Amino acid sequence: MESETLFKEEEEPPGPLTGLVNVENKVSDFFLFNAELSQSYPTKQKSDRVLFPFKDSARSRLFRTRHYPDITRLEWFDWHWQMRNAIREVETLSQIINLSDNERQAMMHHSGALPVSITPYYASLLNPNDPSDPLRRCVIPVVDECLHTEGEEEDPLCEDVDSPVPGIIHRYPDRALFLVTDTCSTYCRYCTRSRIIERSHHHLVDFNKWERAIQYIAGNKNIRDVLLSGGDPLTLSDEKLEWLLMRLHKIPHIELLRIGTKVPVVLPQRITPALTAMLKKYHPLWMSIHITHPKELTPEMSAACIRLADAGIPLGSQTVLLADINDDVVTMTRLVHGQLQIRVRPYYLYQCDPIPGSSHFRTPISKGLEIIQGMRGHTTGYAVPTYVVDAPGGGGKIPLLPEYAIGWENGALLLRNYEGNIFRYPDNHAKLKDIH
Ligand code: SF4
Repeated sequence: MESETLFKEEEEPPGPLTGLVNVENKVSDFFLFNAELSQSYPTKQKSDRVLFPFKDSARSRLFRTRHYPDITRLEWFDWHWQMRNAIREVETLSQIINLSDNERQAMMHHSGALPVSITPYYASLLNPNDPSDPLRRCVIPVVDECLHTEGEEEDPLCEDVDSPVPGIIHRYPDRALFLVTDTCSTYCRYCTRSRIIERSHHHLVDFNKWERAIQYIAGNKNIRDVLLSGGDPLTLSDEKLEWLLMRLHKIPHIELLRIGTKVPVVLPQRITPALTAMLKKYHPLWMSIHITHPKELTPEMSAACIRLADAGIPLGSQTVLLADINDDVVTMTRLVHGQLQIRVRPYYLYQCDPIPGSSHFRTPISKGLEIIQGMRGHTTGYAVPTYVVDAPGGGGKIPLLPEYAIGWENGALLLRNYEGNIFRYPDNHAKLKDIH
């Protein structure tokens, strides 16, 4: 059988199980891993099941044998198994994570819109003994979620106002956002769309709604770019996703399709050869991957991204700036450097949207500017994302930059460089008001 040749069981590391290990990869680890990838890529596929023919990491093996001793390696690599066994209940989670009283209270009395769901794979990345672990804070609720502060709104970006038909947000004239599902495999506690998550029956697709959305796009010749989002489009089956891509791809005025997803990070097993073989039929297809912290850059996630990149899909990242999770220059620099090694271009750094119960995640704007200033000029230009505020009230994404143009004097623009030194550029035709 093909699967037997793809998975050669390795010896488990010797010695007692000591819990989670450091999952972040060194540069050399990535390159070693890439060499293995090129050898193990299969030439034939049969289905979208259990074909993630990469080595699992030591961390993953330890976690699986400790918490899922009856689960085979093939089941662990089956994304359907990961979805079916996503951790949603406090009883299950507490067998894996030493929950703090705060987390336990938040889960037991949870009444907000956003359910709890964590794939076993992503649970393997959480530090079971540290409630301040950055990934743990992203997916396990705390009681601060019940705290609603001034300025927070269910729909802070007023997306519903720009929704001409269900599932479509048409804010910018030439682009449409198509919310194709309300399901994700793992829910981020700061999700901008928490108001719509899991509002329909789990995994049921409303084809009538899709049809109306496609008709809307087909009837608007201004739309040249469609972004599939949700929820997470990669939680759909290959067949359903292909049906959508095929229909959109056939519309003559659509030049570009994009997918927004966190699946390569929380469910890398989903990135099967069958999926990438299907996706590459619908080029130009771009992908924005939601990545939060360097701890997420595991061998499995790296393999998933490299597989997508090898399918010709340009990859960008979207990162939400989160207090005490990734809001410092060192963490953000480690994150963007790791991304470039797996061919993911840092794209947007978002100021956290003011959804209800998000104040414990939000940072001052000055923190985002400080991070951009700490990276721009100090590292590869490709590594620096655009810092944006998605303006409450529906103003769209507004980029923010530290002040590099600081004045205009005697026909020259005064510029501050990354080291703080001032330079003059002769610019007799411009006025300072033109650049601010
Ligand atoms: S993956 Fe995206 S849509 Fe899903 S919960 Fe996280 S932020 Fe929300």
